[in-house]
Amino acid sequence: MKTFWLLLIASVFGLICSGCSVNPVTGEDQFLLVSPEDEKKMGEEYSKQVEKELGESVNDVQIQNYINSIGQKIARISHSPEIGFSYKTIDHNSVNAFALPGGYIYITTGLLKELNAESQLAGILAHETAHVTARHIAELITRDYLIGIGFSVAGSQAASSAIRIADIVRQLEGMSFSRRQERQADTVGMDYMVKAGYTPYGMVETMEILQKQDEYRPIEFFSTHPSPENRVGYLREHIFNNRYGNTGTVGKEEYATNITERLKLLKPPPKDKHNR
Ligand SMILES: [Zn+2]
Repeated sequence: MKTFWLLLIASVFGLICSGCSVNPVTGEDQFLLVSPEDEKKMGEEYSKQVEKELGESVNDVQIQNYINSIGQKIARISHSPEIGFSYKTIDHNSVNAFALPGGYIYITTGLLKELNAESQLAGILAHETAHVTARHIAELITRDYLIGIGFSVAGSQAASSAIRIADIVRQLEGMSFSRRQERQADTVGMDYMVKAGYTPYGMVETMEILQKQDEYRPIEFFSTHPSPENRVGYLREHIFNNRYGNTGTVGKEEYATNITERLKLLKPPPKDKHNR
């Protein structure tokens, strides 16, 4: 019994000591119970599940390469290129994009069909990249720990990251980013896309496109986004405050060639229970 308590104290102490880090995006101290290595393992695990449930990646090398090349332009100039990001397209009718821990980023063909410029796509990929570099998912997992939902630090499994990862992966889907995290992903994402050479208005356009949809569907697995109208407002403010011009790449032709035309050649995704 004594050994148990010693182990428990050691593991909790270990977690706390390794939990303090500086947020690479805000420069603020962040208390996180998940290391970047843990996030990578969770992402690996979860990405397999996502691909199994939502369907295989889209069967078109040109689309996949194009999406990944734009994602990598953003990852390279982000705060944490060492994470090793991957950007994939899933053949699915929902209008969706999301980031898993460890830099696994997905966008659906349903969302790609709504867009018409590379800068809009860059805006979405940059937003998801910023969620990862700002370690928002690690924040969510830590918050869940601290308020005792799902997991208990006193469960003595705390030291075994392998066991925890499997549990956490099961919990991820129920988590939602906060408004603060969404806004941060929007503004940091905009900074990334500008740095990567794109016009920031691509992101504003994306919000306007989503706004025009009959029914605004959440763009991420585990998120409640601020309404698109609010986002257009603060994104325009961010452009003004940072004196971003409208000079970067728009890429309408590139988008049409690599996405719109290619999507027309794809067979419709299989109608299964996941295609809502
Ligand atoms: Zn988001």
